[in-house]
Amino acid sequence: MTDDLLICGAGPAGRALAHRAIAHGLTVTLIDPRPERRWTPTYAAWADELPDWVAPEAIAATVDRPVAWTHRRLELDRRYVVFDTAALQDSLDVSGARLLADRVTEITPAARHTAHGLDLPSVRLASGQVLPGARIIDARGIGRSAELAEQTAFGVIVERAQWPDADTYFMDWRDDNGAAADEPRSFLYAVPLGDDRVLLEETCLAGRPALSPDLLRDRLHHRLRSRGIGLTGEEPVERVRFPLHGGRATSSAFGAAGALTHPATGYSVATALRLADATVAGDPTWPGSARAVRLLRQAGLRALLALPPTDIPVFFDAFFALPPAAQRAYLSGHDDLPGTTSAMTKLFLALPWRLRRRLAAAVTLPSIP
Ligand SMILES: Cc1cc2nc3c(=O)[nH]c(=O)nc-3n(C[C@H](O)[C@H](O)[C@H](O)COP(=O)(O)OP(=O)(O)OC[C@H]3O[C@@H](n4cnc5c(N)ncnc54)[C@H](O)[C@@H]3O)c2cc1C
Repeated sequence: MTDDLLICGAGPAGRALAHRAIAHGLTVTLIDPRPERRWTPTYAAWADELPDWVAPEAIAATVDRPVAWTHRRLELDRRYVVFDTAALQDSLDVSGARLLADRVTEITPAARHTAHGLDLPSVRLASGQVLPGARIIDARGIGRSAELAEQTAFGVIVERAQWPDADTYFMDWRDDNGAAADEPRSFLYAVPLGDDRVLLEETCLAGRPALSPDLLRDRLHHRLRSRGIGLTGEEPVERVRFPLHGGRATSSAFGAAGALTHPATGYSVATALRLADATVAGDPTWPGSARAVRLLRQAGLRALLALPPTDIPVFFDAFFALPPAAQRAYLSGHDDLPGTTSAMTKLFLALPWRLRRRLAAAVTLPSIP
């Protein structure tokens, strides 16, 4: 039997796609070496990015006005949600799909002409099996490579009582983490997990190479000590490392593998959830406007990588002072070309001249894959 949809990879993107395809009555096979592996990362998103079918129990915490600290405290007028990772995974029910514990070694696109007149794409599995599917979607994520800029972070999970600060920090760039002024910057990400626990994570937003999680651990400890917060050493830990770009911008790939990671934030989960229905319906994920937005975002990443450490907070101060609609367009407008262009222009004009010159030089560098 040939399935309507064969999905390679059961991470958030592949599983969301499988879940929605089943809801729309398609037959689905989901292939992953460990299709039922429990996800461990703490995923978060802007609330307005989520489709309405996301189960309420998948949300662990909602923050009405997260804060960005640059050289001042800026409240962001945009609701932020932190997922309960286990509940999100469970809510993306795939019990109607065939789950195959195997590794995809090759995806062969549909042949134009075959001896038997068959014209179906297929996957080859490590077990030797070859499976045809009416449609095949690659959701295998992105492998690491020295050419790709990465995001890294080191976090600890503490009891709320250990962290008396009432603010949720989307980014806290204050310089109390022990790093010298000319060293690459990292920021504190501090979010509630909904069960009287808080994730405190020292994050290198983008680097090629990115700061090592061990260095980020030392900075986090320094920062927390500076704020009078002691750790026992027994706290659960989260280590983060993933490529910020890469993947293929095509309708036959999805999630990080489908180039849906925002190169300036590393976020892709909400975009995958939001685009799942359209992808199941066969709508193009990458219309011309989305491709143009992708090029602009890649230019944004090149600019970020080229900024001197001392100017990073200046850059984000200008960004978070933009009107909320402009911030939203840049962070979430997958195919919003006018919104993204307008946000980037406003940001450029809000920056001091020395940064404008650097950014202009950076965006004309050769493009990023
Ligand atoms: C700790 C951490 C925190 C993050 N926090 C956020 C966040 O807050 N918000 C956000 O939007 N993003 C976040 N990200 C980034 C990004 O969104 C995630 O990496 C997300 O997991 C990408 O989902 P995906 O399904 O596209 O890919 P992946 O999660 O990488 O899933 C790929 C799946 O494919 C499977 N696979 C790989 N190779 C094969 C193969 N050959 N055959 C079959 N299956 C294969 C893997 O086993 C895996 O299950 C975070 C990442 C990390 C690591």
